[in-house]
Amino acid sequence: MEKVKTLIIGAGAIGLAIAYELSKYNEDIVVVEKENSFGKHTSSRNSEVIHAGHYYPPGSLKAKLCIEGNKLLYEYLDSHSISHKNTGKILIANCEEEIQLLERYYKWGEENGCPPFTWMSSIDVKNIEPDIFCLKALFIPSSGIFDTHLYMKSLVNNIENNNGYVIYGMEVISIQKENNSYIVGFKNGEYYQCDFVINSAGLWADEIALMLGMDINSLGLNQFLCKGEYYKTTAIKGIKHLVYPVTTPNSIFLGIHLTINLGGEMRFGPNAFYVDKIDYKFQEEYIDEFFKEINRYISVKKDDLIPDDTGIRPKLQGPKDGFKDFYIREESKNGFPGFINLIGMESPGLTASLAIAKYIKSLINEKL
Ligand SMILES: Cc1cc2nc3c(=O)[nH]c(=O)nc-3n(C[C@H](O)[C@H](O)[C@H](O)COP(=O)(O)OP(=O)(O)OC[C@H]3O[C@@H](n4cnc5c(N)ncnc54)[C@H](O)[C@@H]3O)c2cc1C
Repeated sequence: MEKVKTLIIGAGAIGLAIAYELSKYNEDIVVVEKENSFGKHTSSRNSEVIHAGHYYPPGSLKAKLCIEGNKLLYEYLDSHSISHKNTGKILIANCEEEIQLLERYYKWGEENGCPPFTWMSSIDVKNIEPDIFCLKALFIPSSGIFDTHLYMKSLVNNIENNNGYVIYGMEVISIQKENNSYIVGFKNGEYYQCDFVINSAGLWADEIALMLGMDINSLGLNQFLCKGEYYKTTAIKGIKHLVYPVTTPNSIFLGIHLTINLGGEMRFGPNAFYVDKIDYKFQEEYIDEFFKEINRYISVKKDDLIPDDTGIRPKLQGPKDGFKDFYIREESKNGFPGFINLIGMESPGLTASLAIAKYIKSLINEKL
């Protein structure tokens, strides 16, 4: 049986960021991934937006880790020459109720420590984005876009340069606590003995906690799968900023927004609906919802909307729930010292990844 000090389950952006951080301290790090490469799930099926941190209630982990992660991510992308752009975001309101929501996010931005936002009139918005219509808006300067594939690839390179390992085709199927360590079993028949296990399995993170023997039902750790679809268009050109409608903090998503990628291509989405299983097939039945929501801030014909990609959010927030924070815990209190769970790692998980990694390092330091 292999002995590994720290095993990380999942080679998505978060698992890789954690492995990169820990590998700086020579901690004998192995990342195991069931697929044949990194980032095959949520980390490559998203908006690739670097969020600013105003959407999350002050004091929440999402707020803290997003703000810190935003800075760390820009620094990392700069220092590793990974394509990115600090586009800024226009958060728009089209009625009085929505203006009140903008006011709330303005306050949360201040309280959470975001770089200052600027109020914009509809004319200010027209001056920088002539196609967009709204009543009022907030300009959020620290939002941006980046190449998530190159980011993950760079993390893998850095982990390997620091003598860590990322091993593919290794599906965890059992976890047994034995004295002060964990015996992790794989589908291929191998077993690893580990001092620390970090569950960063994204959409399967609750199943991993269940495998360990945690009572995820009574702990409220069942993840809900919430799918989102994107449509792209080539009918409009020249948009330079991210444009987001405003939604309430209890909403299950950020509204059908407009993003651009680093090549300047435009897409709309994601929408949000709960599903029973992980299936990325494009469903197309929500096109009317897209058409209606998009045309509240930009004129687009239905025929110009082309189905693009889909992704699935691992949410702790069920259909009837309000805001839920990330669950990131070292599980001594539940009887599993040295086991760290990351559950409900939806947005802003990418933005926050490097800050999450530092947070995990601090949880491990407390146990040493
Ligand atoms: C539609 C959508 C849009 C989003 N937009 C943004 C955005 O613009 N900005 C932002 O900051 N965040 C965004 N997010 C959130 C962000 O994408 C996620 O928070 C982040 O990618 C999660 O990373 P992860 O490493 O936890 O999960 P994943 O990328 O899913 O990685 C988990 C890995 O664990 C592996 N795994 C699972 N089970 C096992 C097992 N038993 N054995 C071995 N390996 C296993 C999986 O194969 C997978 O590779 C978005 C999410 C969605 C769905």
